Amino acid sequence: MPPSLDDFILMKVIGKGSYGKVMLVRHKTEGEEPVVYAMKMLRKENVIKRNQVEHTKTERNVLEAVSHPFIVTLHYAFQTPKKLYFVLEYCPGGELFFHLSRAGRFAEGRCRFYACEILLAIEYLHRLNIIYRDLKPENILLDAAGHVKLTDFGLSKEGIQDNFSARSMCGTPEYLAPEILDKRGHGKAVDWYSLGALMYEMLTGLPPFYTRDREKLFERIRRGELTYPSYITAIAKNLLQQLLTGDPAKRLGGGPSDGEEVKGHPFFTGIDWLAILHRRVIPPFKPNVSEEGDVKYFDKEFVDLPVVNSEVADGAHLRDVNHFEGFTYQASDLDERARP
Ligand code: AMP
Repeated sequence: MPPSLDDFILMKVIGKGSYGKVMLVRHKTEGEEPVVYAMKMLRKENVIKRNQVEHTKTERNVLEAVSHPFIVTLHYAFQTPKKLYFVLEYCPGGELFFHLSRAGRFAEGRCRFYACEILLAIEYLHRLNIIYRDLKPENILLDAAGHVKLTDFGLSKEGIQDNFSARSMCGTPEYLAPEILDKRGHGKAVDWYSLGALMYEMLTGLPPFYTRDREKLFERIRRGELTYPSYITAIAKNLLQQLLTGDPAKRLGGGPSDGEEVKGHPFFTGIDWLAILHRRVIPPFKPNVSEEGDVKYFDKEFVDLPVVNSEVADGAHLRDVNHFEGFTYQASDLDERARP
């Protein structure tokens, strides 16, 4: 039987993406142990309106193809006449930046740990010729043990223009490399810039070039003149400066060896990359989740929203005039075993 909406009980709203809600759900039929997932819903109408149809289909294929310890796993995909559904591994630790905003800033060791795991995920995507492009705080989640999980990757793999305009309407460009802002065309190096921007925020509590004035922000990103608080160590500052270099050709990671170049920076001296990859390095912070489906690390703004059960049947009886061919997916046991 192909997966369908009937297989899941909707439990809580945990987030909102650009095309629809993300909910915590429980699988009805799997084994004795209740299994929870994060279910991401995309309104077809919005996807079509924003010219993201081909792209969403490609995206679904990419999600199926990737298998990495620091990238969220896709378990099922299906559709109703009105919506597309991605059923993903649930990350109970919530967004990394939920924790950052509580802590103010992270110590260098903690920042290094997250940077190492993010770096390996980016390097892996680059090897598959996928540019993440959209590395930003909301897309970095923590699993129950405190390891990083990237989500929503590649959803902006193509259609940069649209990504950009969507962002300028409702988001902020703090993590975008200057070559994207200038629409100069770009490559893998944009992700190393974003890694630098994220690390800057982890270490200082604010993204680089931060100002509420959008025009000023653009200008500052272009000029690239950045101040570093005195508590940032020389080695960390040097890494950030190299990652936040405006010219992608001169940026750390911008060369042909990609992630290897970044790993080679003295900031990462002594890191056992294999131990990181195999999740043998104990995370500096372990989320305190008591039960499966604990939502304590998600914003009350979402969690307190009512679960509209009409959502379940929403339009299911309608004729599917916008069918997304080949969208349905079910991870097989074999896939599960093959994961590193
Ligand atoms: P997205 O549309 O993928 O950016 O998701 C919007 C928000 O929903 C994220 O910022 C997270 O807070 C939450 N979210 C998305 N995917 C998951 C997941 N697999 N586990 C837990 N929360 C998630």
